[in-house]
Amino acid sequence: MLINRAVDNIGMSLRGATILVVDDDPVQANLVYQALNNDFTVKACTNGAELFELIERNLPDLILLDIHLPDINGVEICRRLVADERYAAIPVIFMTASMSSDIEDVCWSVGADDFIVKPVNPTTLINRVKNQLAIRLQSGLLEKLAYTDVLTGTYNRRFFSESLLKHVAVAGRNDQQLSLLMVDVDNFKLYNDVYGHVMGDKCLADVAESMIKSLKRAEDMVCRYGGEEFTVLLPNTGLEGALQVAERIRAAVELRGIKHSESSWQVVTVSIGVAIAQFDTSDDVASLLVNQADENLYRSKAGGRNRISAPAHH
Ligand code: GH3
Ligand code: MG
Ligand code: MG
Repeated sequence: MLINRAVDNIGMSLRGATILVVDDDPVQANLVYQALNNDFTVKACTNGAELFELIERNLPDLILLDIHLPDINGVEICRRLVADERYAAIPVIFMTASMSSDIEDVCWSVGADDFIVKPVNPTTLINRVKNQLAIRLQSGLLEKLAYTDVLTGTYNRRFFSESLLKHVAVAGRNDQQLSLLMVDVDNFKLYNDVYGHVMGDKCLADVAESMIKSLKRAEDMVCRYGGEEFTVLLPNTGLEGALQVAERIRAAVELRGIKHSESSWQVVTVSIGVAIAQFDTSDDVASLLVNQADENLYRSKAGGRNRISAPAHH
């Protein structure tokens, strides 16, 4: 009852969902198609090989999987889907002509999300599909909430900490470079004093937007580190690249022209500290990276603000 109300509320988002039906029996496949076609985009294939070919190109939002297929059996397909991180999050609903306790147990054990007995009752099918989509949508929304800073829409500190550790590990393993920028709004206490906290909040959101727009690679990420301080993590980026991004951010914020009467530039500016990960040490690479960015940020502040400080070439 409750979940169905939730489903109604997010009905618009469910409507765009793509359902992939895998069944070698055209009569059954057609029944499913007729049941779901009004609410969803339905695609179909008849065996496991086709399924893996299809999902490699386009990820469906849910898979309806016949247990008995000519080539790979549905149970084995489900096992492979769950084991592949590209596909593990796709809900799978099994369809089977006969259900026994043993088959049910197998379905659950290989990671199925639900099952339905054939011939399918269209109403039951629609509701099972909607429920699975709603669960996935809600867990996606929850995850997004848990990692997002509400005020600025950037990633939050928690996400930064997790990503930093992950990227340090990946970069170390693959012998790749990794850079970090620490960005702090200049004289922001004065901004709040002059324009008030509400304008201050708006200013932070605007600065964050300018930072995000200054990034060109999908892997780059802006996080709110705390207060008026942001981090920018730049995977696969060395000193030269980091300096370019830092200058784009510095210039974008200044050119945005957010009025700040107490600033030497009469507009809101940021100071930036650059850090490059050093893997030739047994110390905590992530902590060193943050400390180095912090130290260079301090140099930018001491040097007069609205500037970038970076480690010397090495
Ligand atoms: P500096 O140029 O040295 O960075 O000076 P500053 O004034 O920016 O730095 P300071 O650390 O002294 O003050 C930071 C200010 O940022 C104080 C705090 O009230 C304000 N601030 C932190 N978080 C928020 C926020 O979410 N909204 C608003 N409006 N202000 C915030
Ligand atoms: Mg500041
Ligand atoms: Mg600060």
